[in-house]
Amino acid sequence: MESKDMIFMKKGDGESSYAQSSFLAQRIASISKPVVQSAINSLFHENLLPYKALNVADLGCSAGPNTFTLMETIIESVKSKCGELNCQLPEFQFYLNDLPVNDFNTLFKGSSSFLERYEDVSCFVMGAPGSFHGRLFPTDTLHLLHSSYSVHWLSKAPRLVDKDGLPLNKGKIYISKTSPPSVKEAYLAQFQQDFGLFLRSRSQEMIPDGRVVLIVNGRQSSDATSKESNFNWELLAEAISHMVSLGLIAEEKLDSFNIPYYMASPEEVKDVVDREGSFAIEQLDTFYIENGDRAIWDNEEKIAQSVRSFTESMMLHQFGIEILDKLYANFTHILIRDLARQTEPNKITSIILVLRRNVRLPSP
Ligand code: SAH
Repeated sequence: MESKDMIFMKKGDGESSYAQSSFLAQRIASISKPVVQSAINSLFHENLLPYKALNVADLGCSAGPNTFTLMETIIESVKSKCGELNCQLPEFQFYLNDLPVNDFNTLFKGSSSFLERYEDVSCFVMGAPGSFHGRLFPTDTLHLLHSSYSVHWLSKAPRLVDKDGLPLNKGKIYISKTSPPSVKEAYLAQFQQDFGLFLRSRSQEMIPDGRVVLIVNGRQSSDATSKESNFNWELLAEAISHMVSLGLIAEEKLDSFNIPYYMASPEEVKDVVDREGSFAIEQLDTFYIENGDRAIWDNEEKIAQSVRSFTESMMLHQFGIEILDKLYANFTHILIRDLARQTEPNKITSIILVLRRNVRLPSP
């Protein structure tokens, strides 16, 4: 099953929606603001600005609110730089991309309210539905490309069965300490293929010297089974296993399910960029947030609500709507127990990557 048919963040703008519960992604959007500001300065430096129009794409934008934070950061940075240089403000063209099943209605409602705040600026917003694992825009269109907390999603989960068709990752839904090495290898191979295709597609769409700002959920450790990279998936697998033991989910349904998500290390990210060859790395850093940080989540229930807002569509697809509330009640219980037992908090690691599109060499 391809991810494009089953991944979507919880729709609408109600309390449990992704728009209202993406506490972590909101924090990350604010941490990455200076990186976006510096990418704008680079465009001035490259003489890609001031120009008539600035074309920006946000890939995997969901339904808000973080895409609006990005738009605001970009407009304010360009305004301030144009003020300094005493030059005319360009027009802004924002392309907002996500999978076709995304809640574009909520996104467009939010974008019209946003545009009302910027009536003095010539700013246009367009939806760009489709998968970023392939072309989305015409050749040489984009000056700046941004994507936050999206590119760790794979186009599909790797096929994890042995030569007899039996499941390789029994009782788990992601790389775990008990998974055979072939599970980790298959996940890495899928990430390399997907991220390589992502870069190849963007390399066509970007103007030479344009900038890419990517923030992904990853890991600092070289060990893909380290707790930093799998704690949520371990707890969710435990909650599903519990439902199996109660006879509410068939064991085969759990054994055949693996999430289409990969938390890469900085070295793995660098390796794919280097091999693809169209971009130069300007920045590759990691930072972490402690799971349960009270400045981000008010309480444990809010953490569980955030996890539900980005995993529910997959659980619904694999296990059915009837078990969702019980499954997440169980998950919340397991999460609270896990947080209470911790001697030190789990780290949620993010990787920030800034790329410059290389100038295309004329063909020999
Ligand atoms: N950037 C937003 C949303 C992050 S959630 C924020 O910072 O809040 C991840 C988003 O990536 C989801 O909306 C999901 O639908 C989208 N996504 C996942 N795979 C995708 C793909 N192949 N193409 C486009 N969007 C994708």
